[in-house]
Amino acid sequence: MIKIAIYGKGGIGKSTTTSNISAALATLGYKVMQIGCDPKSDSVKNLMNGKKIPTVLDKLREGNGDVTLDDIIFKGYGDVLCVEAGGPTPGIGCAGRGIITAFEKLEELNAYEIYKPDVVLYDVLGDVVCGGFAMPIRQGYADNVFIVTSGEMMALFAASNIAQAIKNFGNRGYAKYSGVILNSRNVENELQVVEKALEEIGGSIVDVVPRDGIVQQAENQGKTVVEAFPDSDMALCYSSLARHLMDICTGGKKV
Ligand code: ADP
Ligand code: MG
Repeated sequence: MIKIAIYGKGGIGKSTTTSNISAALATLGYKVMQIGCDPKSDSVKNLMNGKKIPTVLDKLREGNGDVTLDDIIFKGYGDVLCVEAGGPTPGIGCAGRGIITAFEKLEELNAYEIYKPDVVLYDVLGDVVCGGFAMPIRQGYADNVFIVTSGEMMALFAASNIAQAIKNFGNRGYAKYSGVILNSRNVENELQVVEKALEEIGGSIVDVVPRDGIVQQAENQGKTVVEAFPDSDMALCYSSLARHLMDICTGGKKV
């Protein structure tokens, strides 16, 4: 099982990128599970025809803690197994705590053993990397972490924090920082700006994803680009990114 966490600042394009990677990997024949770890709870929306799925936290609240795997795992495009951790009631509870609870529930119900995914992708909000938001890089959940960033200062600031957090946990044998996905915002000299920042942050750019209106066109249909426009340049770009991540995570070995 390949376990990948995708971190980045809120709004940077984590869910868009992660969903397209999931869809591309599904097309390549992998059994994929995508777990949204963001109180926004819209990670898998474009794999589910534009609909938000009930979150693990919602279901736990409804069922007074009593849930089954069928309540919290939904099959989306390409049979991608979709899970949304969920968030707290605003003003009450801690956002990260929800992620911990959701992870504990998935384990308790043996989700990984029962579904046996080839690849698990965690889509994680990285504005603060503490508590629940640090879970995917700890305790063996993810093996490889990729950070989505643009050339914008705030995105790079978050990237720097995330990389630092991974390094702080790193000596304990947890997840590895495996590089950056540059999701272009078309800021001036974006590639150079990110490369310069990486001299301090560490790591390198795995792939550059261009900014393209086709993403919104697909989103308007409730779909990933891979599903809505499979022959587009953008779909090819996501597919090549997906293969690239798999190569990095497996050291080139076939899974
Ligand atoms: P996050 O999950 O990091 O909060 P989203 O994936 O929801 O961010 O993306 C935020 C917005 O940016 C979405 O409306 C999405 O359509 C847009 N977006 C993301 N990546 C691209 C891209 N490469 N080209 C065009 N629009 C993009
Ligand atoms: Mg998101």
